[in-house]
Amino acid sequence: MIVHRTQRAAMAMALVALLAGGGPSSARASVTQDAPDAFVLRCGQVIDGRGAAVSRNRQIVVRDGRIASIGDWGEEAPADARVIDLSEATCMPGMIDTHVHLTIAAGDFAGVAAGGASSATKGLIALRNAQTMLDNGFTTVRSTGEFDRYYSLSNVRDAIKAGMFVGPRILQAPHCISATGGHCDINNLPADLDIEIPGMVVDGADAMRLAIRKEIKFGADWIKLAATGGVMSHGDNPNATAFTDEELQAAVDETHRHFKKITVHAIGTEGIKQAVRAGVDSVEHAILIDQEGIDLMLDRGTVLVPTIYVLNYVVEVGPSIGYPPGSVAKGAELMEVRDDRIRAAVEAGVKMVMGSDTIFPVEQAAREFVQMVRLGLSPMESIKAGTINAAELLDLGSEIGTLEPGKLADIVAIDGNPLDDVTLLETAVGFVMKSGQVVKGVER
Ligand SMILES: [Zn+2]
Repeated sequence: MIVHRTQRAAMAMALVALLAGGGPSSARASVTQDAPDAFVLRCGQVIDGRGAAVSRNRQIVVRDGRIASIGDWGEEAPADARVIDLSEATCMPGMIDTHVHLTIAAGDFAGVAAGGASSATKGLIALRNAQTMLDNGFTTVRSTGEFDRYYSLSNVRDAIKAGMFVGPRILQAPHCISATGGHCDINNLPADLDIEIPGMVVDGADAMRLAIRKEIKFGADWIKLAATGGVMSHGDNPNATAFTDEELQAAVDETHRHFKKITVHAIGTEGIKQAVRAGVDSVEHAILIDQEGIDLMLDRGTVLVPTIYVLNYVVEVGPSIGYPPGSVAKGAELMEVRDDRIRAAVEAGVKMVMGSDTIFPVEQAAREFVQMVRLGLSPMESIKAGTINAAELLDLGSEIGTLEPGKLADIVAIDGNPLDDVTLLETAVGFVMKSGQVVKGVER
């Protein structure tokens, strides 16, 4: 039986430990005490994430944080294993969101962009948001840049990795590297207010290389660039390309030389193609992609992270929460053509990966799945976009993204069958296990 436990409990546990000055060991003890190292998950159905048909009445044996075997109910299991009854649920791989922003409190995007919090506070907000995402079934996330002058998410990532706090596996591009006046510069300040913005603004190939070296020095797993104008940025044009070919080429070379990967925010038709030609690994948004851009991505194997829901949020919710009219207008104009362009990319077979772009409250991240289905992915393909395809983009395909013996036990269970109703991924995640540790769903 699945027992829903509020995310508040996990959050409070972590924050109390932090505020009380509890060291790593006390925090760790509070979340893992009495946890056995072997489990038998008795699943009503299993979606293994490889696209195979759903299998029924299966049990997953977990030992030492990894999947030991997957078989039928009642097959041999370790005698000391704890049996968890998920017989009414569908077990599937932990979900992966490859486009999050974690340092924004409750969707207050304007507040964070304006630098209204210290880097330390942003780190605490990020920890809370990361824990909420884990509670909702996202066992791995990739941040695609934060408005933080420093590198608080590197510390949050490392603290979770070290076991100080419960949280998802985090990979991160620390900043969204922007040209002056570009999407991730802050452009609504007067010219005589010369302040250092909480971001990374560079011009010229040498400055680009320096910025990337600094990002990597302070903990980047990924590099993120704003290759075109955007929606939520003041006054810039989504159709305009931000960087010269030379700057983009320097960025790709420098990133790959360090064995890292690079993604770009790109909305305009030319900016998408310029970035793909330069050799980026993925493109975010790609709202105005044309047939040539689709062919280029197919040819080069570039991954598309379409972030569909966020634009709906900007246009539909934005006006009621004070989003600038200019941003809402840009969003509305783009929305008119987006569906056809993304649908064409889906139909052509461009590899799609799930990313939500959480400038909105992170509780809404899984709304991206139903949007992907609306634009042409089957429910199973949408799940693969948020599991195996995402894992491969993150170079973690050998560890996570499918349910197979030997892989890390990142497993979620959904009350019901998400293939019948993909919105269950938003509303019905009743059980979450990360690396063999139960983080939601049964009393510990
Ligand atoms: Zn974003």
